[in-house]
Amino acid sequence: MPKCSECIRLGQEYEASVEEIRKVVSLTFPDSYQKIHHLHGAQDARDEILRKLYAHAERHQFREKQQAPVQRAKPGRAPKRMAVEPAKA
Ligand SMILES: [Zn+2]
Repeated sequence: MPKCSECIRLGQEYEASVEEIRKVVSLTFPDSYQKIHHLHGAQDARDEILRKLYAHAERHQFREKQQAPVQRAKPGRAPKRMAVEPAKA
């Protein structure tokens, strides 16, 4: 799958959100309720980014499927189809 700047950005956001969860886990809170509250918040943030990441990746796959049968002809050169099917005229 090709990586665009949005893929990279979302990937970095995801890494940061996972790091945030690790941080909350390692922190000491006055009581366990606060820790769980912060942990849930960090997990929600990660899930939100993951949802965006999947939605974005699906758009890539959709585009790849659509573009697959089409061979783009370069300007000034014969279309690829003629090279692929020379017997048919
Ligand atoms: Zn992308």
